[in-house]
Formats: sequence, C-alpha cells, structure tokens
Amino acid sequence: MSIIPTWLQATYETEQNVVIKSQESRVLDAPARDGSNINGVVVEQFVSVGDAVTPTLNVKGRPHVVVTGAGFGGLTTVQSLANADVDITLVDRRNHHLFVPLLYQVATAQLSAEHIAQPIRSILKKQENVSVVFDEATDIDVDGKSVTLASGKTLTYDFLVIAVGAKDSYFGHDEWAEHASGLKSLEDAERIRQQILLAFERAEKEPDPVKRKAMLTFVIVGGGPTGVEMAGAIAEIRNHTLKQEFRNFNPRDARVILLEGLPRVFPMFKEKLSARAQRDLENLGIEVRTGSLVTNVDDHGVVIGGEERIETETVIWAAGIQAASLTPSLKDVTQLDRANRVSVTRELTVPGHPEIFVIGDAAIIKSAEDKPWGAVAPLAIQAGEHAAANIQRSMRNEAYTPFNYKDPGSMATIGRNRAVVDFHNMQFTGFIAWLMWAVIHILRLVSFRNRAMVAIQWTFDYIGHNRNARVIVDHSGDTK
Ligand SMILES: Cc1cc2nc3c(=O)[nH]c(=O)nc-3n(C[C@H](O)[C@H](O)[C@H](O)COP(=O)(O)OP(=O)(O)OC[C@H]3O[C@@H](n4cnc5c(N)ncnc54)[C@H](O)[C@@H]3O)c2cc1C
Repeated sequence: MSIIPTWLQATYETEQNVVIKSQESRVLDAPARDGSNINGVVVEQFVSVGDAVTPTLNVKGRPHVVVTGAGFGGLTTVQSLANADVDITLVDRRNHHLFVPLLYQVATAQLSAEHIAQPIRSILKKQENVSVVFDEATDIDVDGKSVTLASGKTLTYDFLVIAVGAKDSYFGHDEWAEHASGLKSLEDAERIRQQILLAFERAEKEPDPVKRKAMLTFVIVGGGPTGVEMAGAIAEIRNHTLKQEFRNFNPRDARVILLEGLPRVFPMFKEKLSARAQRDLENLGIEVRTGSLVTNVDDHGVVIGGEERIETETVIWAAGIQAASLTPSLKDVTQLDRANRVSVTRELTVPGHPEIFVIGDAAIIKSAEDKPWGAVAPLAIQAGEHAAANIQRSMRNEAYTPFNYKDPGSMATIGRNRAVVDFHNMQFTGFIAWLMWAVIHILRLVSFRNRAMVAIQWTFDYIGHNRNARVIVDHSGDTK
C-alpha cells in the first residue's frame, strides 16, 4: 500500500508525465540541423571557415546547441546562453547537478545527498530556451553533426559542447575499482559512507583482534585535495563523533592511512602549505605516507612498492582521473591523451571542428605558455562562459577569441578548524583558512535552499561534533 497521499501521488505522476513528454518533444521537435525539413522549418547547414578562429555561421533560424553534461562546465554554458537566440538541449545521465567539492562530506556522514545536489530541471525551469533530457550521450557523428543517446534517440546540432567531466583512473588496473571505491558521484559517496559506518559496526562484533584491526584500518590513496579531505573527515569521525558509542573497542584505535606516490601531499600547493597540511594531518592522528606507490589492491588490503602489505577492508581511491565518457567517439577526428581527454584549441574547440567545444575535466586546456591547467571547478565554469561567448560571437559572424583562465587560487580543508588557502599572493592556514573555505563553499552552492541547509548543518556539527547522516540503509532488499 502506498503511503503517499492521493493528491501528492497525482502531482507526482503528472510531473513524471511531463518529464517523459518533454524528453520526447525535444527530440522530435528539435529543428533539423542538417538542411533537412522537419516541422516545416528549413535550416541551412552551419559552415565553418578555417580552423576554430574564424568560423562563420550560416544558419537560418535559431541554431541548436547541444550540451552534454550538467556539471560545472555544462550548466554554466547553458546559463550563459540564457539570453541568446538559440535553442539548447542539455543532456545529462543524472537528473541533478552535483556540487562535487562537498561530496566527501556526504561520504563521511556530515551532509546528506540533497544538501549538495539539485534537480537540473528545477535550476533551469525559468530559462525558456533550454530543454533538459535525462539520458546518456553515447556517441557522436561528427560528419552528420549528431549525438546518439542511450535511449536510441539522436540529436542533431549546430554547436556541441562536451562537458562530461571525469571518472576515476586506476592507472591501467581497472580490476582495483572493485576493491577501492572512487568518489565521483552521490552513489559513490553513499557507498563509501555505508562502508565506513559498517566497518565500525562489524568491528564491534569481531572477537579476533587481527581481523578487527583490518576492519578498523582505512586507507586513502591519493594525497590531493580529495584524499586529504577524506582522511581528515574520517579522522574526525574516529576522534570525536563515535567517542563513547562502542563497547568492545575504542574508535580512536582505528588507523587512517593516507598514501601519496609523490614526495609530498597537496603537490599542487606551494611547498610551505604542503608541509603545513602534512603537520595538520599528523596532528589529527593520520599516518601520512608520501613516496608510497600502490602496486596492488585486493579484497583484504593494499600493497605498497611491491613489498609492504597493509591489511584493510576499506580502500578509498582519490589518485587519478580520466574523461568520463563520450570523448572516445572523437578519436577518429582528434588526438586523445591516455586519459581520453581532448586537447582543445585555445578557443576550446576540437581542432578542425569549430562547432565542437570540449570543456572542463574532459579537456586538456592549456595556458598561453602551453601548460595544462589542473582539473578544477573554476576552470570548468570559466570555460563554460567562454564557450557560450564564442558561440554568440560566431552567430554575429565574429571570430572566436582565445580562452584565458583567471586562476583564483586553491583551497582545501583538513578536518575541523584546519585548511590551507593559496590566493597566489596571499596564503592562509589554520582556522582563518578553514573559515574562508567554509564561507566560499557555502556561497558557491547552487541554490539558496542548499546554502541555508548546509550552513545550518555545519553549525550543528560544529557545536556538537555530530554527523547526522549516519543512518545505514540496506539497499540489498534484505530487511531481516
Ligand atoms: C571528490 C572531488 C572533490 C573535488 N573538490 C574540488 C574542489 O574543492 N575545488 C575545485 O575547484 N574542484 C574540485 N574538484 C574538481 C571539480 O569537481 C571538477 O573539476 C569539475 O566538477 C569539472 O566540471 P565538469 O563540468 O567538467 O564536470 P562535472 O562537474 O563532473 O560534470 C559532468 C556532468 O556530465 C554528466 N555526464 C557524464 N557523462 C555523460 C554522458 N555520457 N552523457 C550525459 N551526461 C554525462 C555527469 O552526470 C555530470 O553531471 C573535485 C572533484 C572531486 C571528484
């Protein structure tokens, strides 16, 4: 029997219908972009002259912009085209935009999924020139200027913006994925949270001290911001949240080990800040092992440097990324790197294809000095703005302009009251840095509702050391 009141069920069903209907109508009603005639509208083909820099648009009617991915890059592109004379179709395989930088807080029970995610439709409901399609883009026909979706539908485009983000890279050892969870989606975060909470529960019931020790050993691979933030948050759970909650062991005995292959954590920060971060981590009781290359991961442990084995049942992977998907369908028209990322022109397009932009983590975006920028949210956002601006330039028959990233600096938190902030000419550490980190992250959340919920949650957490999202839900269907 449904526990949803009848009036709410009706609303819910209507919403469901609208979703399906709008998907269908977008696909069928999308103006033809290939010169054919659908719905009585004849649209001439987009013509590009030269390579990326001087494209000329020759489309009668409104150009169709297809954006794949509603993360930082894709969503920004779409929002930057709000007042443009274009039709936009935004395709995402998820129904929500995710504020990825706070994902680790969902994985460590500080925030819930709805704090950091918002339905894409609700974000864009007032932007009339965009239709949202909940589907996965699986292939690109560059000559036919169309994108195939997992549902079998195709979308023709005048401009394509690929903003599919990244997935974990296990450096050629995909088999490790089964034993070492990455952190890229809400599903990953909830899986890791269950794994951490269940490890403590199982340890409470485990009489064998050797097995219990393995259960209470948490290994994080990768000493970049994600790895450091995860390690700091697990240490906080162990040191404070679970205090006095178990009878057969002291949660403080749990080991948190951070492995980094390079000589220091936070390799992207200045050395002084890396050193401070390492001290902060060690003060939290985290074992920081730099220069430690993982050579194997299995069900019961990790191997470092081919020799040393650490017995553990929880390995979290924060060590490398590759383009999420879709970019391999460009392999016949452009070169991809080993991580399937597209090396784009200075204008952010695929070489020889000024109608295809690739932005964010799926692209290798270089500075004027030819150095690749790191995969961070501000780069994806600024690239999204620039792709939208270049599309509009093209519509005015103006030349594309090159992208110049304005690097705002970097920041990362290391548990409660500790963070490092590097604004290039100014650096901050400790509580001040942590406060800056908290304020900036709250302001960057996509809606006022999310900002308010996170601020309230953090305040309670700060006062009481509580982690409210600690309920373990069995998704296996076994309720015994
Ligand atoms: C755990 C973690 C913490 C991070 N912390 C920070 C931080 O503190 N500061 C910072 O600046 N950066 C941080 N980053 C990096 C930052 O999140 C990324 O650089 C940024 O999200 C990249 O934006 P994007 O638009 O390229 O991709 P994303 O934001 O990842 O969005 C990609 C979108 O594409 C969709 N998608 C993927 N494939 C398909 C497909 N085939 N069809 C349709 N849709 C598809 C996905 O569902 C997703 O919505 C962090 C990353 C991670 C994983």
